[in-house]
Amino acid sequence: MLNPKFLIVRKIKLKKIIFTAFLTIILPSSLIFGWGDKGHKLISAFAMRQLPAQMKFSDEFKAAIIAHSVDPDNRKRDDKTEGPKHFIDIDYYKEFSDGMVIMSRDTLIKLYGEQVVIKEGILPWATELTYFNLMNAFKQKDKDKVLLYSSDLAHYVADGHQPLHATINYNGQLTDQKGVHARYEIDMIDNYLFVIEKSADDQSPYYVNSIPSFIFDYIVGSNSYVEMLLSADKFASKKTDGKYDKEYYRLLWFKTKYMTITSINSAALSLSSLIYSAWVDAGKPVFEN
Ligand SMILES: [Zn+2]
Repeated sequence: MLNPKFLIVRKIKLKKIIFTAFLTIILPSSLIFGWGDKGHKLISAFAMRQLPAQMKFSDEFKAAIIAHSVDPDNRKRDDKTEGPKHFIDIDYYKEFSDGMVIMSRDTLIKLYGEQVVIKEGILPWATELTYFNLMNAFKQKDKDKVLLYSSDLAHYVADGHQPLHATINYNGQLTDQKGVHARYEIDMIDNYLFVIEKSADDQSPYYVNSIPSFIFDYIVGSNSYVEMLLSADKFASKKTDGKYDKEYYRLLWFKTKYMTITSINSAALSLSSLIYSAWVDAGKPVFEN
């Protein structure tokens, strides 16, 4: 008889294989998952450590924000409007190739139509709206809403720092690299999480003056990593003859380690800075949590 522990491991492995295959074969942009659950929770945990003591967030409250930072991905199943909030194909817009970013959603709608703007993703505006909702929740000292919007903000900010959430070639489908999305953000991140966990650089959050430019700046920054990531995937799969085995992930990590650790730490700092700024904008309220 097989050892039950072995069966559980096999079951988990099988589930992972089916899930990865699902991501590889049919991956509409609304079903891509940011950093995977573990990555999202790690970014949130890094950010919680950075919040200043004067905000008086209890450890329990911080743990709840970390746990709920994956909720927006789960929400996609029941809420069809949720998917486009997790990405923006910023290089879809022709102004981008001229070195310009149109930050106004209304202007983009005028130029491209509402359907296109939704289809190409509304991550920056979903992030901005969540920021203002959080600020109002702070003003009302509404603990449940502060938890909800801090967790949502944690999610959207982290997605905005994942390069493949900021490009039209989000799954390598335009460069014959299908499946790179899950290979990078789930399989590679899961394999090397133990290294990333030790990489927290514990910076101090700062006050953000202009929320829209801040959000668009990090999204453009994420987009600038796309080519590096895709070339790392090409390098690794060429060396392993297209086999996505242990060696492939070692090589992908070798080429993207610096970029990944930088993105994760910068996501954490952006998040702690936005939560801190929403709190300052609300008049620095202290409430039971
Ligand atoms: Zn997401």
